[in-house]
Amino acid sequence: MNYIVDFHIHSRYSRATSKNMNLEKLDEWAKIKGIQVLGTGDFTHPQWFKDLEKKLVSEDNGLYVLKSKITGKEEKTYFIITSEISCVYKKNDKARRLHLLIIMPSLEAAKKINQRLEGKYNLESDGRPILGIDAKELAKIILDISPEAMVIPAHAWTPWYAIFGSMSGFDSLEECFEELTPKIFAIETGLSSDPLMNWQLSKLDNVTLISNSDAHSPENLGREANVFNLTELNYKNIYQAIKTRKGFEHTIEFFPEEGKYHFDGHRLCGIVFTPEESLKHKNICPVCKKELVLGVLHRVNDLADRAYGFRPAEAVPYKYIVPLKEIIAEALNKTKISKIVDIEYFSLIKKGGSEFHILLDLEEDKLKKITSLEIAGGILNARREKVTRSPGYDGVYGRISVLNGSDKAKKISQEKLF
Ligand SMILES: [Zn+2]
Ligand SMILES: [Zn+2]
Ligand SMILES: [Zn+2]
Repeated sequence: MNYIVDFHIHSRYSRATSKNMNLEKLDEWAKIKGIQVLGTGDFTHPQWFKDLEKKLVSEDNGLYVLKSKITGKEEKTYFIITSEISCVYKKNDKARRLHLLIIMPSLEAAKKINQRLEGKYNLESDGRPILGIDAKELAKIILDISPEAMVIPAHAWTPWYAIFGSMSGFDSLEECFEELTPKIFAIETGLSSDPLMNWQLSKLDNVTLISNSDAHSPENLGREANVFNLTELNYKNIYQAIKTRKGFEHTIEFFPEEGKYHFDGHRLCGIVFTPEESLKHKNICPVCKKELVLGVLHRVNDLADRAYGFRPAEAVPYKYIVPLKEIIAEALNKTKISKIVDIEYFSLIKKGGSEFHILLDLEEDKLKKITSLEIAGGILNARREKVTRSPGYDGVYGRISVLNGSDKAKKISQEKLF
């Protein structure tokens, strides 16, 4: 059976998150989205950890369910224990800042990590704590305490806080994790990059690419996700599927242009550049004369040793989605926060099942029965990758238009760049 899993989210104890990021709302929204297994996020935060201990019941297989939902007839949302830690340190004379996603096999194991860290670091200040610790040392602590844990570089390519980030990262996993590298068997591609881009690096052939939402509000759950086909749902099988890629059906991806750091640029100076244009300007902003924020496409091009379009033999497939509310908003010519978009969204969910089911699986004739031709057309265009892409840059989200699709024409610019 297929299970949709989103590992990376944040609780209401993380900075700039919705107060609705509590377990009850997460449970509710996972069902709306069609997610079966959801990361708890933020297990390192003392208050959130207390919530987890109080409200979750173990299924004795590394997954948890809400106590209040345990006897209900509806389908359960399973929780898996996760957190994100920001490592800020110096290595080889360079300042490094990178985020690690931590996935734990149990609350007990997570508690041991917290006990180990809390004496030396402040875990209370933020759901995603900032620790002055070398990422390799942190990985070692976690894997020593719990060999079944997973340590996964988060949103691997974003400029400021990522393992391969242009501003603060490394050029390879080895440079960061040294002899521990074989134990770092997966990276999170992040919203601004997709598997196709990552497949341009032969040194990532042995690394599994996973995708998560990094949601700060319930509505953003499952912006990206992972689909596993497992004979039995438990932590061990999820771990194996990531490690071996057997049973890893596909990832669900943003069009990478929609991410906040796809292209290069300066938001305040109004500069958006392709990597090619940046190079022409020696990566200097023509307005303020300071260094441009080099996006994900630029970094991938710098480190790539293959042309765009190559597909490694063991690669996990992917499917693109555009969030349903964005499709509805475009079809109705409204903003996605308007009331009418909200009403149509929930009416569609009621008639069509979960958002993932509507976006990915629902047959064309059924779609056309439950919604307008424009909205159905937008969903189908997204499935066929008939979209127009305006790439994001320097923290500004890109835009994907599903109604004025221009096929894959925009992709040519990327191929040309390499
Ligand atoms: Zn992060
Ligand atoms: Zn995060
Ligand atoms: Zn500038």
